Amino acid sequence: VVRVRGVRRSFNGRVALDGIDLTVHQGEVVAVVGPSGSGKSTLARVVNHLEQPDAGTVEVGGRVIGRRPDGRPASGRELAAQRRDVGMVFQHFNLFPHLTVLDNVLLAPSYLRIGAPEEIRARAAELLTKVGLAEHWQRYPHELSGGQQQRVAIARALAMDPSVLLFDEPTSALDPELVGEVLSVMSDLAQEGRTMLVVTHELRFVRDIADWVVFLDNGRVLRQGNPSEILRGAGDERIERFFASVS
Ligand code: ATP
Ligand code: MG
Repeated sequence: VVRVRGVRRSFNGRVALDGIDLTVHQGEVVAVVGPSGSGKSTLARVVNHLEQPDAGTVEVGGRVIGRRPDGRPASGRELAAQRRDVGMVFQHFNLFPHLTVLDNVLLAPSYLRIGAPEEIRARAAELLTKVGLAEHWQRYPHELSGGQQQRVAIARALAMDPSVLLFDEPTSALDPELVGEVLSVMSDLAQEGRTMLVVTHELRFVRDIADWVVFLDNGRVLRQGNPSEILRGAGDERIERFFASVS
């Protein structure tokens, strides 16, 4: 469960998040949509504590990110442990270019010694099979298509077995013909009951995979609801216009 409460964040006096309240329940897939600059990436980054909120709290699995159970600030080590529980997949994959596909997936669990080396390796192989890349484990990122690279990034995020997965426009850097293969992996994850918060403009994701849609505008939740309701505009002209422009 992710619980965002009253989160505000400004950059140089300009408000990016203006009091966001949002809950992603266990096993739920929430799509975050909205115009450019509405605060979607900032929201994702705040949930992962890549960005600190100026006010408000983010709770993942019952623990407030950045704080100890007694409310005091978390140490760097505690924060790192909390962050590990949130997997993140970015628009531009952000794979390590000098590491093979397998090593990209192995790196974090090996470094943090999450299990014995052979367990970590077996798990990485299993994840690469799951995203359809079992036979590419020895390749380097530049030898793969964008869709394949993004599937490696998803396997890498899963390698830490996070309780929540965050995606920030995972398909918007892809050629249109490669979007489907990434959506299909995301759909499998949704079917498995993964808790996911997905920033996306991809209508297929919103329509076919998301359980719930949150529409951001100017750092606020303008509307939230089930996909069909939001896709029909939820009675707001700005939302209608937005979906007309992305479809
Ligand atoms: P897009 O659809 O273009 O990715 P977005 O909805 O993800 O947009 P954000 O990237 O969250 O929007 O940005 C929200 C606002 O905060 C914008 O006005 C942006 O310029 C500003 N902003 C975000 N990050 C920073 C930063 N690190 N420094 C300064 N301003 C920032
Ligand atoms: Mg963004």
